[in-house]
Amino acid sequence: MADSDRIVLAGAAPLPRSLWAATARPPIVAPPLSGAAEADAVVIGGGFTGLSAALHLAERGLSPVLLEAAEPGWGASGRNGGQIIAGLKANPAEIIAKYGRDRGKAIVDLVGGTADFAFDLIRRHDIQCEASRPGWVQAAHSDAALRAVADRCADWQSHGAPVRMADRAEMARILGTGDYVGCIIDARGGAINPLGYARGLADAGQRLGARIHGGSPVIAVEKQGEGWRVRTAAGHVDAPRVVIGTNAYTTGFWPGLAQSVVPVSSFQIATRPIGDNLRRTILPEGHVLSDTRRLLRYFRLDPQGRLVMGGRGTFKDDPGAGDTGRLRRWVGQLFPALSDIEYEHHWAGRVAVNLDHWPHLHALAPGVWAGLGYNGRGVAMASRMGAILADLAAGVPAEKIAFPITPLRSVPLHGLRRAVLPVMTAWYGVLDRVQ
Ligand SMILES: Cc1cc2nc3c(=O)[nH]c(=O)nc-3n(C[C@H](O)[C@H](O)[C@H](O)COP(=O)(O)OP(=O)(O)OC[C@H]3O[C@@H](n4cnc5c(N)ncnc54)[C@H](O)[C@@H]3O)c2cc1C
Repeated sequence: MADSDRIVLAGAAPLPRSLWAATARPPIVAPPLSGAAEADAVVIGGGFTGLSAALHLAERGLSPVLLEAAEPGWGASGRNGGQIIAGLKANPAEIIAKYGRDRGKAIVDLVGGTADFAFDLIRRHDIQCEASRPGWVQAAHSDAALRAVADRCADWQSHGAPVRMADRAEMARILGTGDYVGCIIDARGGAINPLGYARGLADAGQRLGARIHGGSPVIAVEKQGEGWRVRTAAGHVDAPRVVIGTNAYTTGFWPGLAQSVVPVSSFQIATRPIGDNLRRTILPEGHVLSDTRRLLRYFRLDPQGRLVMGGRGTFKDDPGAGDTGRLRRWVGQLFPALSDIEYEHHWAGRVAVNLDHWPHLHALAPGVWAGLGYNGRGVAMASRMGAILADLAAGVPAEKIAFPITPLRSVPLHGLRRAVLPVMTAWYGVLDRVQ
């Protein structure tokens, strides 16, 4: 029996039929939790946040148990665009204005270093995930957006980051489209097969002694003596520390956590491999790109030359071919030579959005921490967040953690999101056309 069959038979929801599911390395064997167990820490959620936390706890010589509802990489981590991007949506100057010179600078260094951190993890653990580092491009869709991008570039340059503006000729050459007015090239960024990366993190953690259970949705986290009991339908784990990394897929096991983010769907499509001649003209140096629209579009090639295009979707977790017409139109607009190309894959994942567009690190109770809310930019940051959560669970005092720990807050009108979001999406679409 193949490993993947074993996990599906264990009762987990199957992965979406994404490009990454078709091309990633095989999954690890992660049997469901059964009966009672004890651990130094329980990690809930098997995405980059939880997998990185478990790996870093195991690297410290501790014995974590990771409980994942489906299989490692099943959530956003195995479905995303695979673009490794340094930094947050906030620029360094905003971070320093908010947190002051010394603390602000420490946070800027931390978030500016997240791409290095992820590539270093891949290298240290020899993770086979088609990693490459040609750079991330942020392309401006309007003159106003270009001014903001130029400010962002100057701001990061003043902190020594390897970022620069491309002139129009260079932009046309490295993108193969004239659809944008300008762009920044950030040499810190790059590409991975995200499901391969998630599975590689799981493998590395498991090799170091982390016990990883798939098909094990957590239904309750309860106080148990000095520590915590984390329960699934088939068993429980007792531990002094709990780390939560469930992001946009958070269920109701901790009061208020699911309400602290709004899950928003993002859809992706992948073409068949593009022929060699055309491939020499479309992203010929392998850059990955996100643009500046509020309803952002992002695209890249995979190593076999498939164009992967992504953007905001509806509430569907499983889009049909008919739901992705908008994405196919964008491909035709950007690259007219691909107007009639066939598509091999379409899939969706949930992005966790909040009002300040800032990832949140919460101390929920003594010995319980959560990291979530990456606002669609979590490949590098969630990897880093996992290590921060591991530090906290290993006993590093909160004062020594550079990243801010904030109180848990519900997003206003969370219960009405299905009514509110389509209105906001339409409004953002209008703003994107005029600004
Ligand atoms: C379509 C898409 C494209 C994206 N593209 C990019 C990109 O190119 N670059 C970038 O930087 N970011 C991107 N992102 C964002 C990035 O993927 C996420 O920020 C990141 O993967 C979050 O990782 P995570 O581990 O916090 O959450 P997830 O990977 O979502 O993992 C959470 C896990 O928790 C599990 N879980 C939930 N509830 C329970 C429970 N009760 N018990 C046990 N387990 C539970 C879920 O099954 C899930 O596997 C994208 C996101 C999406 C959806």
